[in-house]
Amino acid sequence: MSFKQRVFSGMQATGNPHLGNYLGAITKFVALQERFECIYCVVDLHAITVWQDPVELPRAIREVTAAFIASGVDPKRNIIFNQSQVAEHAELAWVFNCVARLGWLNRMTQFKEKAGKDRENASVGLYAYPTLMAADILVYRATHVPVGEDQKQHLELSRDIAQKFNNDFGKSIQAHGYGDAFFPQPEPLIQGPATRVMSLRDGLKKMSKSDASDQSRINLTDDADAIAHKIRRAKTDPDPLPHDEKGLEQRPEADNLVGIHAALAGKSKAEVLNEFGGAQFSTFKTALVDLAVAKLGPINSEMKRLIADPIYIDSVLADGAARARVIAADTMKAVKDIVGFVRR
Ligand code: ATP
Ligand code: MG
Repeated sequence: MSFKQRVFSGMQATGNPHLGNYLGAITKFVALQERFECIYCVVDLHAITVWQDPVELPRAIREVTAAFIASGVDPKRNIIFNQSQVAEHAELAWVFNCVARLGWLNRMTQFKEKAGKDRENASVGLYAYPTLMAADILVYRATHVPVGEDQKQHLELSRDIAQKFNNDFGKSIQAHGYGDAFFPQPEPLIQGPATRVMSLRDGLKKMSKSDASDQSRINLTDDADAIAHKIRRAKTDPDPLPHDEKGLEQRPEADNLVGIHAALAGKSKAEVLNEFGGAQFSTFKTALVDLAVAKLGPINSEMKRLIADPIYIDSVLADGAARARVIAADTMKAVKDIVGFVRR
């Protein structure tokens, strides 16, 4: 069975979109719009798996939307919307909760990291997060999913859910005329030198929106001074930069900054080390500040302009939601028939 090629990806409205989101996800969104039909979602249902202040949440949703548009994702050519406006995501997630196995979810490292020591007190939603993510992708029967490295495990789970649904309901899928598989196996797209950008304060921790320390990340809303300050203060080791990639092993902070430089410059890490091998961090950081400010400055000012116009942002989300709903409703009708629900 061949499926129409379609891209889906999401970003949580949990706070400030940052350099990791930009390099790991948003730059891929921009590139993929040239070749695919793309759906990019601000996943607000996911955001509330941890507490979100209802006064802050709308701002965060609009800010992520602005980050997409300011980075070059075209809201006319692609579908951009927020998840809670398309009820079918939650509806399909329930069906997937009944397809996925507890044992599968118990292996998810993101839940373990986010729930931490106080697991008994984590929300049920945080635990079930990956089944909603599978629904986000599969409600559009998407075939390609650009994400950062940290989402690889969840994507594998989405594939398992698609496969188990196709197997469990195989006869019904056939009987309703959908051939031998209703859902595709969505393929992760995880490429380039910055698929896992690390915290500027700790090279072993992922840069995250939800990290309490603002110094740990470069926000897309940071101005040139803030970017310069954070890069200059970024943790490093005392040695000069190595001449080849092997020399980055066991040096997570150096590896991270070289990866960021490479991704921003559109180069490989090897090329960056060709240029900076043997240099002190002070020299390298100065070059990195210039590069980051040159690349992120225009995005920063465009984001500010967009954030000042919430009516426009909301119209983009409403228009995207209307277009997304058409596709999602079709899938959900078919899923109801396949599962055996009576419907109008
Ligand atoms: P949170 O801390 O709330 O989970 P986050 O920073 O992890 O926020 P998400 O909204 O969960 O951001 O993820 C959005 C996209 O950005 C995903 O594709 C994810 O893989 C990617 N991403 C997140 N952090 C990084 C990072 N440090 N490096 C590269 N990609 C990242
Ligand atoms: Mg995350």
